[in-house]
Amino acid sequence: MLSAAACSPPGEPAPAVAETAAVTMTPVASATPSSRPGPRGEVDWDSGKGSPSHPNVDPSPVGWYPAAFPADDSRTVYLTFDDGPSEYTPQMLRLLRKNDANATFFIVGTQVAGRESVIRDALREGNAIGNHTWDHPDLTTLRSAQIKDQLARVAEVAPVGPCMRPPYGAVHEVSGRVAVAMGFQPVMWTGQAFDWRPTATASQVEKDIKAATRPGAVILLHDGGGDRSGTVQAVSRLLPFWKQQGYAVKSIAACRVSSG
Ligand SMILES: [Zn+2]
Repeated sequence: MLSAAACSPPGEPAPAVAETAAVTMTPVASATPSSRPGPRGEVDWDSGKGSPSHPNVDPSPVGWYPAAFPADDSRTVYLTFDDGPSEYTPQMLRLLRKNDANATFFIVGTQVAGRESVIRDALREGNAIGNHTWDHPDLTTLRSAQIKDQLARVAEVAPVGPCMRPPYGAVHEVSGRVAVAMGFQPVMWTGQAFDWRPTATASQVEKDIKAATRPGAVILLHDGGGDRSGTVQAVSRLLPFWKQQGYAVKSIAACRVSSG
């Protein structure tokens, strides 16, 4: 089901949602009360154009950042992994443990069977588990009932917290509202390295993520969907780098809250 290019449709350019999310992100420090919904609050929508691969889609909920992140995130990096769990997830957990770091794992439902203990380990060690849908469809192509099913099925097989990340970064008003109504806050990202591309190398991923590092950054990497040995290698260098730079690497607190 998941290809090596798990987060971009084959043959299409990568969604530009990340850049859009960074532009529309409301800095926590200057956010006004009206633009700071609670973790389960109403999501505001950007009126801008979507990414090249999803031109008619509202690219991201404007409220996603202040809704999901605490205000005291100076010198904090939020590391997130999509498309797992997989054989690489235990390696990521070992690296996190070794470096006093945590991450948020946005899991795919079809990947869960046989890896329940990995998810339990991740949670016990202070990581967060979010919802990345049952089998990674583009939610903007589905009807409301199908979107609901995609999110609900994951919650039936794993203890996912109240956060979701749309596959391909593709979220529109309908999918966003369905997710929020079910208690899943869409969480996008501010920096990524396209580590799912077959041409990605560990050193390029390391370089790109270092360049995207800043206080409150939400970093998107992948622990599933293909050969992620390069990502593991990059993370093994990034975690000591962040520590040396004085950054705490944390899971997203709002995603750790039980959705039950
Ligand atoms: Zn994905």
